[in-house]
Amino acid sequence: MFVVLDGQIDMSLPALSGESKIIAHHQRFDFSGELNLLNSQGSLVEARTVGESHLLRIPRRGLQRLMRAEGDIANLIMQATIWRRIGIIKEAGGGVVLRGFAGDVETIQLQRFLLRNTYPHRIVETTEEVSIQVGDSRSDHDPTLPAVVLSDGRTLHRPTITQLADELGITELPDPHMIYDVTVVGAGPSGLAAAVYAASEGLCTIVIEGIAPGGQAGTSSKIENYLGFPTGISGQRLASRAQLQALKFGVRLAISRDVITAEQIDGIHKLTLAGGAPVCSRSVVVASGAQYRRLSVANYSQFENRGIYYAATAMESLLCRDDDVIVVGGGNSAGQAAMFLSGIAKQGI
Ligand SMILES: Cc1cc2nc3c(=O)[nH]c(=O)nc-3n(C[C@H](O)[C@H](O)[C@H](O)COP(=O)(O)OP(=O)(O)OC[C@H]3O[C@@H](n4cnc5c(N)ncnc54)[C@H](O)[C@@H]3O)c2cc1C
Repeated sequence: MFVVLDGQIDMSLPALSGESKIIAHHQRFDFSGELNLLNSQGSLVEARTVGESHLLRIPRRGLQRLMRAEGDIANLIMQATIWRRIGIIKEAGGGVVLRGFAGDVETIQLQRFLLRNTYPHRIVETTEEVSIQVGDSRSDHDPTLPAVVLSDGRTLHRPTITQLADELGITELPDPHMIYDVTVVGAGPSGLAAAVYAASEGLCTIVIEGIAPGGQAGTSSKIENYLGFPTGISGQRLASRAQLQALKFGVRLAISRDVITAEQIDGIHKLTLAGGAPVCSRSVVVASGAQYRRLSVANYSQFENRGIYYAATAMESLLCRDDDVIVVGGGNSAGQAAMFLSGIAKQGI
């Protein structure tokens, strides 16, 4: 973080076309930075001093100490990080560009990952039609897509979620030399709550999450019975807020990595993440939630994420706009999905 002691810094969003857009002028005692102050994400903006300026640079560890010690300042910084990230998303100019085919499984998975991690992005869909007929192969289409164009101009062709998460700094891998006080497996509402309580008591805490913060709740269009939200809140917003709260207390979040093994050696738990990274911890909270039952119908796997979805969020609503939709299930989530989709789909069962 840079605090302007004297002079001015201009913040701009880099544009792939080459012309960046100034989005803020920071003057005396203003500070730079947004959500990336709290995690390892690379900067989404460029900063340039205007004339001779004197800046105070506060490194990340110093900022974390400051936020723990000074509640008022911490709240101010939290507010700024939230509003600045929202501002960047609204500008629709920052972050990455996702290029892919409409309806393509890999494109949808990358889009969902960026959305659920509130990472600013733009989608550029190619005009080529993607058929979702059984037996179709990707080789019929451009094999280099989907692609993610990074803000520095580099392009990742058909990245895995893990590659993308690492490239964007969405994953903070565990420190291999550290013994954490608490390791939480899963960043659904239970895992994030455990992490916030542990870290707010001063325990050194890491959360390992396979997909994205929010878990099942992150796929809910509206949660009406979460304590403290009398008018309800979307699962995505609830998850982002809980994640921010965890970051504020210094929780480290390793996203896009599953825990695959756990053992205990001399009273210390050793977990191994997909890819091989180890985590050592004095205690482990497993908050891994539930797994969906899959439909037992023929050719099911060929339609997963290309017609069959496990959520009814704003993203799925775009994918089935004006289509016939069948909601499978009869519980609360199914009712909620039916209500939500009724305003969007052509006809529903
Ligand atoms: C569409 C929908 C709507 C809902 N609406 C409501 C509602 O209105 N009110 C309500 O009370 N409840 C609602 N629920 C239920 C609620 O979301 C769940 O009860 C809640 O999310 C459970 O929280 P959790 O943290 O225990 O588990 P989950 O939310 O399931 O989270 C578990 C997390 O652990 C991760 N994980 C699992 N295994 C591993 C591993 N090995 N390594 C790393 N990470 C792992 C998963 O990726 C996941 O993110 C809804 C659920 C859905 C699907």
